Amino acid sequence: MHEWALAQSIIYSAIEYQKKNNLKEITEFTVKMGELQQIDKEILEFALKEIAQFKKMTKIKINIKTEKAILKCRACGHEWNLSNPVSKLGKYELESIHFIPDIAHVYLRCPKCKSPDFEIVKGRGVLIDSIK
Ligand SMILES: [Zn+2]
Repeated sequence: MHEWALAQSIIYSAIEYQKKNNLKEITEFTVKMGELQQIDKEILEFALKEIAQFKKMTKIKINIKTEKAILKCRACGHEWNLSNPVSKLGKYELESIHFIPDIAHVYLRCPKCKSPDFEIVKGRGVLIDSIK
């Protein structure tokens, strides 16, 4: 599962950050996970904790936040998010989008001008949001 590889790179970047900033210890960090990212949050959390233990970061508190997806129309500049009722997606479509973000273009249209040409501004990728 790529959650483990991801967790490992998150922990390594946290350690890099710690070294760069001469921090004695990292006690808490927050990971922001895009809504459209195909990641199992529970597996990721578990993997992060396991790897942190292995790296002797025993007192660490790990938070995982989900970032809402925001889409922006390339034709008219309108921005909207997936919970917007205008996009009225079925459960099946939403699930497909979760697994393959690019499929969003097949199902979604700009709620304003109906253009299928839009970009995903937020909601993809995983990043470290804050480190304490
Ligand atoms: Zn539009």
